Amino acid sequence: MSFSTLKLSAPILTALADLGYEKPTAIQNKAIPHVLSGRDIIAAAQTGTGKTASFVLPLLEQLNSRYKKTNQKLRGKRIRALILVPTRELAVQVEANVVQYAQHLDISSMAMYGGVDAQAQKQRLIWGIDILVATPGRLLDMAHQRALYFDELDMLVLDEADRMLDMGFIDDINKIIERLPEQRQNLLFSATMSEDVRGLAKRTIHKPVELSIAGDQASKPKIQQWLVTVDKTNKSALLSHMIKELSWQQALVFIETKHGAAKLVSQLEKRGITAECIHSGRTQDIREKILSDFKSGNIKFLVATGIAARGLDIGELSLVVNYDLPAQVDDYIHRIGRTGRAGATGEAVSLVAKDNFRELCAIESRLGHIIERKEFSEFPVKKVVPVSVLNFVPKNVKAKNSQSKSTQTRSSKPRNSSPRSTSSRSNPGQNPRARSPWSAK
Ligand code: AMP
Repeated sequence: MSFSTLKLSAPILTALADLGYEKPTAIQNKAIPHVLSGRDIIAAAQTGTGKTASFVLPLLEQLNSRYKKTNQKLRGKRIRALILVPTRELAVQVEANVVQYAQHLDISSMAMYGGVDAQAQKQRLIWGIDILVATPGRLLDMAHQRALYFDELDMLVLDEADRMLDMGFIDDINKIIERLPEQRQNLLFSATMSEDVRGLAKRTIHKPVELSIAGDQASKPKIQQWLVTVDKTNKSALLSHMIKELSWQQALVFIETKHGAAKLVSQLEKRGITAECIHSGRTQDIREKILSDFKSGNIKFLVATGIAARGLDIGELSLVVNYDLPAQVDDYIHRIGRTGRAGATGEAVSLVAKDNFRELCAIESRLGHIIERKEFSEFPVKKVVPVSVLNFVPKNVKAKNSQSKSTQTRSSKPRNSSPRSTSSRSNPGQNPRARSPWSAK
């Protein structure tokens, strides 16, 4: 299917052609017609599937035909569409997409998030904004200060709903929704469909069409996953070794703490590898500068804490490294979703110490398969990481994961064969409760 068969009008089709988008992704094919027909939707779609365009394009189409063609003016401090996102990085990224897709339309947009001076944002709201992309906390502050009103709003998008709930935004989201007009179209996108997300959808969304891109081979990011077991004290040396040995050109390296990020950068630099770090302790300006340097290739290795890295759209990224395994399985899935985007091939490598065994079990149980292991003879492991039990379900998520149904599995073969692969000894069968990260429900 092409974009023109999706009934998008000429200015949008031109913008897509300018961007080199040739055909819609699976989620775009599924979502756009429903959104254009005015239905509410709830969609399970990972980052990297083209989900942003799947709501932004029909939203632009609707706003354009409803208001712009008829030249209806927006009142001051009003907005027509609200896209709620969990982080400022995602707000910036989504709004940048809006600007790209709306480049031939007369539709205004703005990203609004905390951590920066509110005055400039208030100023921009004075004349009204068609599409506001906002994080919940700052949005609510602005509403309390009467810097913005929702009475002209008719579209709400909850993007990365699972992440907003994980980050504790539920109260803010509820307060925002209470202020919105009853008559509106609602779109909810989430990488995972937990009970909490379904609860939010139930309260917010009316008779939605449920979409999932599960089982759609074409839309699955192609990600090769492998791991190296390592003693904790050897992690930075091993990472440096891998960077050199495997001739890695660029990678996004995930780490748990701010302090750890700064330390790793200096350890890498001592070994002649230039790197930068991005975390919540750095100012927005610095983060943006680092991110643009990383995108342009001036920064080769970017060490990022999970929260800071959330929402980064780095088109060409081919490699992510989990220097620390995340505590939550969803975070692992989001992280590896940074690579293999929109059809590209990607590679996700994890460094796993014995202390991470619990997290590893949870991740592999969710994937439904053991991740291929490799060894580097220069780094023999003293504290061996056992082979996971695939039906492991961490206590705190037992209830949430009990809905998991799919038994789909994927094998993963690393691109570079120089280190010794040990995965063949370790695949004790599939977990009937396991869920592939690409099977969305
Ligand atoms: P998203 O899942 O929205 O974060 O999108 C992931 C990446 O895919 C972004 O860099 C988009 O610009 C890109 N993208 C989205 N839709 C398409 C498409 N139909 N063709 C090519 N690239 C796309």
